[in-house]
Order: sequence, then structure tokens, then C-alpha cells
Amino acid sequence: GGVVTEVAGTVLERDGAAYRVATTDGEVRAVLSGKTKRDVPRVVVGDRVTILPDPVGGLATITDVAPRKSLLERRVPLGRGTRPIAANIDTVFVVTSNCDPAPVPQLIDRLLVVAEANEIPAAVVINKVDLDPGVWLEERCRKAGYPVFRTSARTGEGLAELRAAMAGRESVVTGPSGAGKSSLLNALQPGLTLRTGELSAKLRRGRNTTVSALMLPFEGGYLVDTPGFNEVGLWGIEPRELASCFPEFRPLIGECRFQDCRHVSEPGCRIQEAVAAGAIAPDRLESYRMLLEETEAEPEEWE
Ligand code: GDP
Ligand code: ZN
Repeated sequence: GGVVTEVAGTVLERDGAAYRVATTDGEVRAVLSGKTKRDVPRVVVGDRVTILPDPVGGLATITDVAPRKSLLERRVPLGRGTRPIAANIDTVFVVTSNCDPAPVPQLIDRLLVVAEANEIPAAVVINKVDLDPGVWLEERCRKAGYPVFRTSARTGEGLAELRAAMAGRESVVTGPSGAGKSSLLNALQPGLTLRTGELSAKLRRGRNTTVSALMLPFEGGYLVDTPGFNEVGLWGIEPRELASCFPEFRPLIGECRFQDCRHVSEPGCRIQEAVAAGAIAPDRLESYRMLLEETEAEPEEWE
């Protein structure tokens, strides 16, 4: 028989006890070797793995999992740790429309904070620029330190820039319903079918199960279809670490008069001063305060 050599692959989906893995030789189904199972208890989509193909075409074996450059995790309360969802995400794109529906800054910020808490770079996509240029929103997000893409799924404006930012990389696209996520992705790659949207949300609730993430080949990279991103939530983010999830607050943290400043109503607060001076958008501080209350609240219901 021939010598079977190991190949590199990327985990696309969990498939029962096996994984669907993309390799340069096509897709294979693979199971974890005993050693891998001990070393990496949970292999997730986006994991870069080493595969030993089965010489007779059966299940391949995952013999190694490469160190992850990022890991999106759902936090579980009361010290019960975290559940990994997807590995090696390069960018979370938060899509919002300019109007119809009107943007809700707090909703955008909440998603940006989830990305920050997972240490995944985020960018904002302002869609429907054919309806409204949305200059204030762009300035607000740039001032906060985020790259901004201005797009119209209808006219095609800005699609080339967005495509270039996604090419060859692993992306998550999230944002409020109606912002135009499906329209944008379909404009970039016609025929793409995501499981996000109202129907799958209903199915999920009905079955009361967690839908796991799925990676779709996209622009020479991957799109992580994770209906759960919005549900990853803020649980487990310490109130103390929340300010550091606002990039424009970071240089000021520790500069306030009180070391334990919550940046709410304390005197000598550098962040409140920066807002008064116009360096930080007032509604960014508002978002922070709203999310602070949430992280300080006792979790009641879980999973
Ligand atoms: P999703 O819920 O974020 O996936 O949003 P959809 O892609 O379903 O879009 C919601 C609605 O907005 C649909 O009626 C789209 O036709 C419309 N829409 C999406 N993108 C644009 C755009 O760039 N310009 C305009 N005018 N309408 C858009
Ligand atoms: Zn402060």
C-alpha cells in the first residue's frame, strides 16, 4: 500500500461525532485522535488541524490542532467557564443601516464590545448609503477607533472595498435585523445561503437547542455563519474590564482621580472630561453605562 501523508485542513462544521474538514485535496470527514481529544477537548469551526487521511477512504483522523489566534467564546455563568464557538476569526463586521431601520448606537456598541471582549478585531459596515449618507455615524465609529465601510447592496457602492477586506480571511458578519446583511453577502457572493434570519431563530427557539457555527467558503477565505454571535452576550465580562472594551477609553483608564472609577458620576473622571471636551462621543459613554448596568446585574436565567 502507499504511504499516507498528513495534510493541513480547516474545520468547517461539526457533524455528529465527526468534523467536516476542508483540505487542499477537498473535504473530508474526520474524528479526533485519542491524543487530540486529551489535548484539545473542544475542536471548533475555524480550527486549523492536521489530518491523517484514511487509506481506504473512511474517516480521517485529526492528529493535531494548531494554536488559535483568536477564539470566540460564549461565557457560562457562575464560574462554569466558557464554551468555544469559533476559532481564528480575523474580523467581526458589524453591519448597520443608516436609515430604514434607523441605526441604534447601543446595539452596535454591544456587538463591538462582544468582539472586544473576545479580542477579535471589529469593523463597522454602514449599509444603505444610497438612502442616507450617514456621515455622523461614520464619524462616531471612526472616532471610537473602528474602520468603517460604507456600502449599498442596492447600487454596489463600497462592495469592492468590503470584498477586499474579507478576501482570504475568516469573517463574522453580524448586526441588527434589516440592516442588509443577507443582501450584502449575496451581492458579494450570489447564491450564498445563511442560516441567520427569522426562520432559523424560530427553529432554534422551538427546538431549544444551540445551533453551532458553520464556515462557508467566501472570497477565498471563510464566512463564519454563527447565529449565536448576538447571543454570546456580555455575561462573564467583569464590570471592571468593560471600559477596556471601548478602544477610545483605553488610554484614559487609570488616569481618573479614583483608581476604582466606574466612569459614571465620579469627580475627576478623565473619561467624562473627554466627553465634555468632545473627544469621546456622548452616546459611547451612554452605551458604556447601559452595558455596565447589565454586567453588574445578577444573572438570572441561563442557557
Ligand atoms: P438582514 O436582516 O440584515 O439580512 O437584511 P436584508 O438583507 O434582509 O435586508 C433588509 C431589507 O433592506 C430588504 O428589503 C433589502 O432589500 C433592503 N436593503 C438591503 N440592503 C440595502 C441597500 O443597500 N439599500 C437599500 N435601499 N435597501 C437595502
Ligand atoms: Zn473615570
